[in-house]
Amino acid sequence: MSHSDQNCIFCKIVAGQIPSKKAYEDEDLLAFHDINPWAPVHVLIIPKRHIASMADVTEAEAALLGRMTALGPKLMKELGVTNGFRHVINTGPDGGQEVYHLHLHVMGGPRPWLKG
Ligand code: ADP
Repeated sequence: MSHSDQNCIFCKIVAGQIPSKKAYEDEDLLAFHDINPWAPVHVLIIPKRHIASMADVTEAEAALLGRMTALGPKLMKELGVTNGFRHVINTGPDGGQEVYHLHLHVMGGPRPWLKG
């Protein structure tokens, strides 16, 4: 699996070639605000290296997935979400995935806003 895909929009965000409103960054992960939010607060948490989808994840990525999942609550707290939030990962065509770089949607803020 390659480190980065030159045709991938989220790899371009990681590389700084496309702007994003960042919420968190470290060596392995990046979080940024969704450009078309479904909720008052909507961030995407991605691995910096290109993994196309959850269908490509193996046991080797367990720690990375764990870090992505655990970052959600931390960011929601920092962004002022106090009354609950939702984690969503869409996988493949029937899962509603549109961008093929693994991303965890974390959404919060006053309802109603649920989609899908
Ligand atoms: P869906 O569009 O059905 O949510 P995905 O789960 O693949 O499919 O989500 C892709 C998400 O990426 C969408 O919520 C979309 O708004 C977001 N997005 C696409 N391009 C950008 C961008 N340049 N910056 C921030 N978010 C983006």
